[in-house]
Amino acid sequence: MARINSHYLKLTAGYLFPEIGRRVTAFLQRHPDARVLRLGIGDVTRPLPPAVIEALHEGVESMARAQTFRGYGPEQGYEFLREVIAEQDYRSRGVKVTADEVFVSDGSKCDCANIQEIFDVRARVAVADPVYPVYLDTNVMAGRTGRSNAEGHYEGVVYMPCTEASGFLPDLPAEPVDLVYLCFPNNPTGAVATKEVLARWVEYAHRNDAILLYDAAYEAYISDPRVPHSIYEVDGARQVAIEFRSFSKTAGFTGTRCAFIVVPRDVTGKDDQGNRVPVHGLWSRRHSTKFNGVAYPIQLGAAAVYSPEGKSQVRDTISYYMENARLIREGLASAGFKVFGGLNAPYIWLKTPGGATSWDFFDTLLSRAKVVGTPGSGFGPSGEGYFRLSAFGERSNVQEAVERIRTQL
Ligand SMILES: *Cc1c(COP(=O)(O)O)cnc(C)c1O
Repeated sequence: MARINSHYLKLTAGYLFPEIGRRVTAFLQRHPDARVLRLGIGDVTRPLPPAVIEALHEGVESMARAQTFRGYGPEQGYEFLREVIAEQDYRSRGVKVTADEVFVSDGSKCDCANIQEIFDVRARVAVADPVYPVYLDTNVMAGRTGRSNAEGHYEGVVYMPCTEASGFLPDLPAEPVDLVYLCFPNNPTGAVATKEVLARWVEYAHRNDAILLYDAAYEAYISDPRVPHSIYEVDGARQVAIEFRSFSKTAGFTGTRCAFIVVPRDVTGKDDQGNRVPVHGLWSRRHSTKFNGVAYPIQLGAAAVYSPEGKSQVRDTISYYMENARLIREGLASAGFKVFGGLNAPYIWLKTPGGATSWDFFDTLLSRAKVVGTPGSGFGPSGEGYFRLSAFGERSNVQEAVERIRTQL
């Protein structure tokens, strides 16, 4: 008999986005003429930068001729891409990362999901609440948790509530943990961590022999010079942190797929005898066993993000989204909403007015303003009473959505 992995049965249904879809469809059935504006999606909307498109074409052309055709590439990614990443994302910021510590992949979702498998099933995991669901669900699948309780918390997981009082930053866990998932700039709250905040985490990790899993998917949206772009800007992080980066939100690669993970050679875990084992070799073994590399044209396209034209085009697109963020943030604040985030991240996190639940506010916003957002409670119990609006989208839609919210709520 093919026994299934029963840990999968502990997963609570992927409820958030299907439920949003269901409510929007029901609304449109009652109001077929309504023009619904969507500020709920966590996906980019602007096309790829021209420099990337050019490089993609070049890559495709080279596949058409025997002399330049490429088959399997290095599992870890082509040297030309890993080298430019190490140079421009790290060394140019005074951070030591070498090309062989960079592993190119088809997405940060996969990297964040896969990293846990090189650690023991008994590892204690800490996650923020609210949180990007991938960190948690993959640890549930791996059997690192018990069942979820009435509040929606899985047994055995250390939750770090991110509340208004703490500026939506997680406190250090009161109990010792082995793996800590951190995401800054944050999805969904838009919160960022200063160097001092990250230094406390690095110190915590050293003191507790823990490893930080640092998701920097929104690094390119940082405009405040006090906010580090990489956790390795903090002294000592090379021994305790693994960093995730993606071209998805940076350069519009959500449908094109390219990302990378940095595993410094200094990061170690312990084996059953208590000996230190570098995790770099374990990740390399996993990656090359289970992954066969990102397509050559896509890696060429990713490398073009670092060209002078690519950089300037990426900056323009991010400015476009961040102007949307400013319009949402300021428009809602002037209408009396309490808003957070949206300064170094493409997400605005707002407090639902009058103590409404996240879903009640979703329904109000949809029925009165015909605007769709994302209920905060869908990201974890501590998101209840909050709501996420996304700055991805066309300017005119954003302007109209803000106007409708200001006048119709
Ligand atoms: C969008 C996003 C990612 C990137 O995922 P990809 O698989 O690289 O597209 C990673 N982490 C968070 C928190 C995100 O919101």
